[in-house]
Amino acid sequence: MTHAIAGAAAARLFPSNPVAAFIAAFLSHFVLDAISHWNYKLLSHKKNPSDPLNGDMIFGKKFIIDISKIFLDFIAGIVLSIWLFNPQSDYQTSILILGALGGMLPDALQFAYWKLKIEPFRSLQKFHRWIHTKYEIENHLVLGVISQALIIAIIVVISRLLG
Ligand SMILES: [Zn+2]
Repeated sequence: MTHAIAGAAAARLFPSNPVAAFIAAFLSHFVLDAISHWNYKLLSHKKNPSDPLNGDMIFGKKFIIDISKIFLDFIAGIVLSIWLFNPQSDYQTSILILGALGGMLPDALQFAYWKLKIEPFRSLQKFHRWIHTKYEIENHLVLGVISQALIIAIIVVISRLLG
């Protein structure tokens, strides 16, 4: 959800250039990953401790649950973005949605990597893992929710100050 909102927040700074808006949203993902780490656990993600780059995603019931979670999260992110940024036209709304998509795309590309294990997904995956903060708060629900709410508030303030 935070990634969708951050993407929308970045995209709305480029109201007349959807390509720049999308790229800004895409990049916002990595900035956010570098400062905050609180993801829901993916049930179908199989980690490989000896070779972290060699994870996989197992298709099945758990995968369906994961996808549903991500989809709901994405929708919630769009609804919140629209509420927070109050677009004045359909065009502005679509920029926000484009931004939310761009903000979440890097995580979707991880699926692509796990399944295909080819370039350019491989390099992107390496970069993605590298930039992720090592500070894990995954297991602290309250701390996680508070920190995410705080980060969303900061993102909204910055985005509104800039444009
Ligand atoms: Zn990420």
